[in-house]
Amino acid sequence: MTAFAQNPTEILDRLAELRRADAPTHGGRVLSYVYDSGLAELDELAAAAIRAVQPLNGLDPTTFTSIGVMERELIGFAREVLHGDTDVVGTITTGGTESCLLAVKTARDVWRAAGGTGVPRLLAATTVHAAFHKAAHYFGLELDLVPVDPATGAPAVDAIAARLDASVALVVVSAPSYPTATFDPIAEVAALAAERGVACHVDACIGGFALPWWRGGDLPAWDFRLPGVTSISADLHKYGYAPKGASVLLQRGRDRQRMQYFATTRWMGYPVVNPTMLGSKSAAPLAAAWAIVNALGTAGFAELTAQAERATDALVAVVNGIEGLRVVGDPVGPLFAAAVDESVPADRRVDPHQWADAVRGHGFIIQLQPGLSQADGTRVPHTTHLTITPVTEAQLPALTAALVEAADEVRGVPQASADGIIEALGPVLENFGGALPDSEQAAGLLAAVGIGADGAGLPSALAPLLALIEALPPALAERLLTELLARLVEPV
Ligand SMILES: *Cc1c(COP(=O)(O)O)cnc(C)c1O
Repeated sequence: MTAFAQNPTEILDRLAELRRADAPTHGGRVLSYVYDSGLAELDELAAAAIRAVQPLNGLDPTTFTSIGVMERELIGFAREVLHGDTDVVGTITTGGTESCLLAVKTARDVWRAAGGTGVPRLLAATTVHAAFHKAAHYFGLELDLVPVDPATGAPAVDAIAARLDASVALVVVSAPSYPTATFDPIAEVAALAAERGVACHVDACIGGFALPWWRGGDLPAWDFRLPGVTSISADLHKYGYAPKGASVLLQRGRDRQRMQYFATTRWMGYPVVNPTMLGSKSAAPLAAAWAIVNALGTAGFAELTAQAERATDALVAVVNGIEGLRVVGDPVGPLFAAAVDESVPADRRVDPHQWADAVRGHGFIIQLQPGLSQADGTRVPHTTHLTITPVTEAQLPALTAALVEAADEVRGVPQASADGIIEALGPVLENFGGALPDSEQAAGLLAAVGIGADGAGLPSALAPLLALIEALPPALAERLLTELLARLVEPV
């Protein structure tokens, strides 16, 4: 064979060097994005399963039959823990976003087949995941966001009921929501949806493999036990502890679910029958998730959930005990958000974004979430998000100290202001006359706020960046962030 252009050892050394710059994926230092079971053997098992299926093509489970078997068994597990009967069928997708996209696409097509005309609506609370914004955008639905109580993140059933009519192709409730861990009024909404003949999706992307064991499984019914629930998304790559690329979408009713598929025999190649968005795809995340679920079993999930639950309870108490901060609403599941406590005088308040930046100085990464204006004019506050995993429990002493000390450091410091930047940008912004900047102009604007077009100069303090995002018109903020991410991968 021909010689490699570069020696494998050198290539892997370079990769190891690049990986050293990444945020840590293990050990509970990053409280978002990664879900660490703390079980090294589980990671080893997943790696071995990935290796075993590395060359397969998930496009065709009739050629690579192991894929169909693993998928069927995983769906069976998910259906059991989410209380589906034999009428509930499903698909393994590449992630929560794809599960949500497909739930929306299915509902849209079912709605149309039932005679729906015009633009279908997608009804959900403000706290619904961005994947549904994306789905509405991709599939041509009007996203109708029901305002939530700014103090708690909870939507009112009446407000949802008032907008739940025949033009709604899908109503989405969350178990729980990502930004604030709000457990939506699922039973009430599912019952109303059933009464009015509207499909109802429960987005349990984050809660799906934790809530079945949360508080010993003693939560109000939120899954297929509710007859009005037509589909549920649950991510294996979150509390299923699988590497990224695996989620389950379950649908009630075979005929409904068949609307999820795309099939064509009208091209010159092989007959295409795709339950998901991709064509050729990896079987690696599926095999890893399948191996992990088999290794853990329900007892393993119960134990890991209990660990995350103890850590969550402890941290909720810690944050509520910090003068100037408050936990938002009544979170359910291993996650929560913190907002400023406005009941104390300004000089005793802790801004959640200044706090997050200070916490980073203590070696933990918590996630900044911007404030947002809702359709009714109310404003949900900016917050900081914490996702708690089983390993968090072992970090509790260090993390508690970090959260408390960081709050002491920034107590009384107000939210970062973008006024100066907005003022400086003023004349430049006016030049666009309302139109969005092109890529050169966008790169120029980023440079003007000190961020290099290749992402260089990304601020280590994120509070000012979030303040800027909140202050700019959303379309402009989105355009600038698009430029930032696009330039990041341009060859230099
Ligand atoms: C994570 C998440 C999603 C989207 O999932 P991805 O796996 O990031 O694509 C959707 N809904 C909720 C509630 C989530 O937490």
